[in-house]
Amino acid sequence: MIRVNKDYDDIPSSIIKYKNEIKKYLDSLESNNSSDNVKKVRDNLWKKLRKEIQEKLLEDIYHKKCAYCESKFPLESFPPEIDHYRPILIYPWLAFEWSNLFITCKKCNNKKGTKFETKSKKINSPPKNRIEWDANSKILLNEKPLLLNPEIDNPDEHLTFMHDGTIIKKNNSERGKKTIEICCLDREPLTLARKKIIDDYKEKIKDIYEEFLDLKNENNENNDNLNVCVKLCGKEITKILLECNNPKKNYSLFRRHIHDDYENLLVNNIIGDKNYKDYVLKYLHPK
Ligand SMILES: [Zn+2]
Repeated sequence: MIRVNKDYDDIPSSIIKYKNEIKKYLDSLESNNSSDNVKKVRDNLWKKLRKEIQEKLLEDIYHKKCAYCESKFPLESFPPEIDHYRPILIYPWLAFEWSNLFITCKKCNNKKGTKFETKSKKINSPPKNRIEWDANSKILLNEKPLLLNPEIDNPDEHLTFMHDGTIIKKNNSERGKKTIEICCLDREPLTLARKKIIDDYKEKIKDIYEEFLDLKNENNENNDNLNVCVKLCGKEITKILLECNNPKKNYSLFRRHIHDDYENLLVNNIIGDKNYKDYVLKYLHPK
């Protein structure tokens, strides 16, 4: 999960277009209509609104990634789903609230289900003032949700990784721990996908380094050859670091972890020759 920017005022035009029908739905909640009827009204409305909301979330806000696990769509044969951060079972008035809508993969959405744990008491009726329906309103923040909100929180302060792709809580964060549990962010396919990223990067650097070792074995380790190898390696690491800093890539929080520890992961762990290592580091940090 990474922090994303969503403008709560930049509401999809379909929500504006159908505002009268949304109001009717909200009125029906207040007038205590039978729940079957309310559900029917909501489902019908969703059919009209869904496409545009999904496109906006997917393309403009989430860069075609799941809000929770950062897997990139398309995923297997499952289409993306729209998730209600605060589930409509508990907060039916937030069904069409823009700040409550995320794009997620089927697996995260299924794992999360209709759970929504808070440290303080949940509000159980819609606040009178519509501005207080925003997920970052004081009244909703006061509930102290345990699940991190990528549009409000900075997941980087709560989540980190081991070098093999395993996700763990950061700084003993309770919300980090709970978020991993709620969406099952430590499920094996995700850990393996993250591990593959670091393994592929390591492999690239190893291949370049081995070319140098071959030259060295052939007693061909003159300065020109060393320079060429160092340049190749430096360029490759620069490319990797750029990629690791790109929030549009899948698993970008993990890539940032690689970025922050690249000297250890991609240089010290792989390059044994002291001269070569020093030259690579000099290439990456010229004085
Ligand atoms: Zn996911």
